[in-house]
Amino acid sequence: MKVISLGSGSKGNCFVAVSHVDGKRSAVMFDCGFGIRIIHRRLARAKLVPEDLSAIFVTHEHGDHAKGIVPLAKRYGIPVWMSYGTFMGIQQDFADVDLNICKDGDCIAVGSVKVTAFSTSHDVSEPLQYHVTDGVFKAGMLTDTGRITKHIKKHLDGCHVLFLECNYDEEMLRYSDYPVDIKRRIRGIHGHLSNDDAAAFLMDVDSSCLKAVVASHISQNNNAPELARKAMEEVAHPHGIQVIVADQEMGTDWIEL
Ligand SMILES: [Zn+2]
Ligand SMILES: [Zn+2]
Repeated sequence: MKVISLGSGSKGNCFVAVSHVDGKRSAVMFDCGFGIRIIHRRLARAKLVPEDLSAIFVTHEHGDHAKGIVPLAKRYGIPVWMSYGTFMGIQQDFADVDLNICKDGDCIAVGSVKVTAFSTSHDVSEPLQYHVTDGVFKAGMLTDTGRITKHIKKHLDGCHVLFLECNYDEEMLRYSDYPVDIKRRIRGIHGHLSNDDAAAFLMDVDSSCLKAVVASHISQNNNAPELARKAMEEVAHPHGIQVIVADQEMGTDWIEL
């Protein structure tokens, strides 16, 4: 299995996992917070075309995760999975979209991979995050959650790669010119994970199989890539875990498991 970010941050997020099992290829996309022109370009950069995608899983309705879902799914007939709450929250026309509803705990087989949904804590009605396995390797993602729960940890134990939100640096957020209520929202239990929150989680989660952690969803205003990297490296390096930082425009290279 291999995974890639096609861009991550407050202006758009998209991950893809590809597995080859017995000559059969499955490519699954998670979120599409970019317009269709941009996503075409970024798929091409990853040497993929939309027709390769077997399914798209959506975490929640915020534009940086859901903007391109409906146009992409409609144009290429790609099955889409999301919670009912997320469906209700996306204000777009789902006519002709192959829409499938999933919920916390559901495990969905897509070709040679299985995708499992789990609940998080974010300011939308039914947020989900996912982990995906080909039976050998496991990739997990965790962004857009204001707190870590035992439930989240249980789902992300034993990953080989983890896309982990490092949204803000405490100090930068404190001194930023964001309005107080927005700062409270970001920091709140339905907001986002700070670098310190992500580092604490990385320390806590079962990382015995973890090869790489990808610092993801980094705020352009309240964080800096080098701060996120440093926070991850302090926990990851003693355990021989590689640290990768996902860029808003460039995402990451392919990460082979
Ligand atoms: Zn987001
Ligand atoms: Zn969000």
